[in-house]
This record gives sequence, structure tokens and C-alpha cells, in this order.
Amino acid sequence: MNAAMNATVLVINSGSSSIKYQLIDPATGSSIAAGLVERIGEDGARLEHTHDGLTTERDARVPDHREGMRRALALFDDLGPSLPDAKVAAVGHRVVMGGRRFDGPTIIDDDVLATIERLAPLAPLHNPPNLVAVRAGLDLLPDVPHVAVFDTAFFHDLPDAAATYALDREVADRHAVRRYGFHGTSHEYVSAAAADVVGRDLADLRQVVLHLGNGASAAAVVGGRAVDTSMGLTPLEGLVMGTRTGDIDPAVVFHLVRTAGMTVDDIDDLFNKRSGMRGLTGHNDMREVHRLIAGGDPDARLALDVYVHRLKKYVGAYAAVMGGLDVLTFTAGVGENDPVVRARTAAGLQFLGVEVDPARNDERSDEPRVISPDGATVSVLVVPTNEELAIARQTMSVV
Ligand code: ADP
Repeated sequence: MNAAMNATVLVINSGSSSIKYQLIDPATGSSIAAGLVERIGEDGARLEHTHDGLTTERDARVPDHREGMRRALALFDDLGPSLPDAKVAAVGHRVVMGGRRFDGPTIIDDDVLATIERLAPLAPLHNPPNLVAVRAGLDLLPDVPHVAVFDTAFFHDLPDAAATYALDREVADRHAVRRYGFHGTSHEYVSAAAADVVGRDLADLRQVVLHLGNGASAAAVVGGRAVDTSMGLTPLEGLVMGTRTGDIDPAVVFHLVRTAGMTVDDIDDLFNKRSGMRGLTGHNDMREVHRLIAGGDPDARLALDVYVHRLKKYVGAYAAVMGGLDVLTFTAGVGENDPVVRARTAAGLQFLGVEVDPARNDERSDEPRVISPDGATVSVLVVPTNEELAIARQTMSVV
């Protein structure tokens, strides 16, 4: 390894059946190695590790996340770079739910572990696997600090008016029912990067960020602080997503329980995994939806209409909440790659000053860029998100 190499951060993002990792130089932003362990706990797991432009794949039996972490770290020994050579200064763990407690990156100790565990009922699909990977990481790399970076932290200080559901206060308080918001690491990173792109001070900007991946959320950001976001108690609320409904009348739940005989678990599965674009078209991938539309499929056309209608509503609502709009930014898989979604979301929003230049919008690039015409009232941008780099930088900010 290069002797002049900077200190690095190992970023860990652990899901229900996978662990993704990336070794990052937070000073330069470069990714030194990355990989994943997927299908943990299933019959055959798959490992993938990329370093120096070379990707190696392996099959293995990985019964649990602990073994997954051990395997991932072993790949560094095997395929490089060795972690001691890479001067790993800290491990940054993505943790989904930080609740009311965590408002920023936090060095993990026993008390923090216990709190993340206590928050698990609020994020039953996310915090438990996050926690297993954190514990395994602490055991396997005991000599460096481990930091939790929470998806909810950027929204910790949402104004009460935005964070509060109009629910019986006692019930809401007792069960911690409020709007927490998610994708915060991405919204924070992208809104800061957007200020750089337009060459203005973050403190002066009213921004809407549309993070449109498989999961999707919108955030309203004033002066670098989040004032509203579309995800709520869970990542189910808000925009139409790959497999999630987004906003839906909660009485649909009562209706399905009473008339379809569905259980709460059935409906949880339906709303989270079999709805959204998948529910409307059979496919959660937007590229497939476009293919169907090109073939004349009316369901796919309607699905895209629903998707864009919801987006437009949120842009308008957030412009109203902020009393105006300076920057509108698209990010994540769909936001970065889909000129049709961008153009259709902006269409008809000229009254807010939102306009998209067709040639700029159609240009393909991995760089942050402006897609509104010169001199437009609102700067419309595409800014690739980089949650791993954001986690690495937040991790270094506390160690
Ligand atoms: P995740 O939410 O899983 O992190 P990403 O942000 O990577 O996902 O977004 C994944 C989604 O991006 C895919 O499901 C697909 O719908 C969308 N996507 C990727 N490439 C394109 C493209 N060229 N055009 C439209 N959508 C795309």
C-alpha cells in the first residue's frame, strides 16, 4: 500500500440479509475497496469484493451476520488492501433509527448499544441487523472507535409542526409515535453539495431534495436544516416507491382487515413489499416501467402518472412550507438517471420558477450538474448521492 495514504474509514451498512462495506479515504472521497455479503442465512451466500479495479466473487455458507462480518474482513486479508496497511482510523456503521436520542454521529459504547436496541421496536426490520453487525464489528476490530451514523439524525430537530401526527397525545407519547424521517445522511450530503454546485451559501438557500431510489423520500431544507420530510414513523410514508405505497389513507388498513380478512402482518407485507411501482406494474425497477410504457402498457403509464403526481405535490407543498424555493435537486437511482421523471416532475411548476432545460436534462453524466436554464429562478440540479462517503466523513468528525 501507498505509504502516504491517509487514514481511512470502514463503512458498514448491514441489512436484513446482507452486509455492504466500503473502505473510504474521507479526505479525498475516494473508495479504496468495496464489497458485500448477500443472502446471509440462506442456503448459499455470495461474497463480492472490489479493490484496484478488480472484482472477485465467491460463494460461501454464511449462517449469520457475525460470520458475514468475519468473512468480509477476511476478504481484505485475502484480496487487499490489508486493514492495518490501510490505516483504518474508525468504523462507521449506518444505523437506521436513532429515535429522539441521537442527533448526530455517535461513538458506540455499551450505553449507545443498549439505546439502539431499545429503539428496535420502532424499526424492527432495520435496527436488529444493524446491531448484530455493530457487535460483530466491535469484536473483530476492537482497536478502533466505532461510530453510529443514524438515518434519522438530520431530521432530529424537525419543527414540531412537521414532526407531530394529529393523534391522541397520550397514545403518541407513550408509544413514541411521531415523524422521524429517513435517508437523512443522503439529504444532508446532497443539500450541502447542491449549495456548492450553485456557488451559494447553504445558509441562504431554501431547498427541496428528492431522493428517488428504490426507497424514495423528499426533504425541505432551509439554511442547511431540515424543516420537513416525507417519511414518517417508518420509511413507508410519503412518495410512491419501488415496492411501498407511500401516503395512503390509514383507513385502508381497517378496510382490508374487515373486508379482506387480512392480518396486520399481511398488510405490512403488502404495503412495504408488494405495492408502489411493483404493485401497479409488477416491476419495482423504473427502467422496466419505461419499457412497458414504450410497449403501450396502460398500467405502467398510470403508475408513472401516480409516481410523478405525488412528487409534484411534495415539491409544491414544500415550497409553501418554506415560503419559496431556490434549489430543487434530484438524487439516487431514479433521480440521477431518469430524465423523464425529472422533466415530468418539473412540468407545470413554472409558476414556482421551476424549469428544466431539455438538453441539459437529457445529458448523461455522473457529475453534479445544473439542468435548469441559465438565469432560472430556481436552480434544478442532479447531484449523485454518496451515503458511504457521508458516513465516512461524519464518522471522522467525532473520532
Ligand atoms: P436503493 O434505494 O436500493 O439504494 P438506488 O438509489 O440505487 O437504490 O436506486 C435503485 C433504483 O434506481 C432502481 O430500482 C431503478 O428503479 C432506478 N434506476 C437505476 N437506473 C435507472 C435508469 N437508468 N433509469 C431509471 N431508473 C433507474
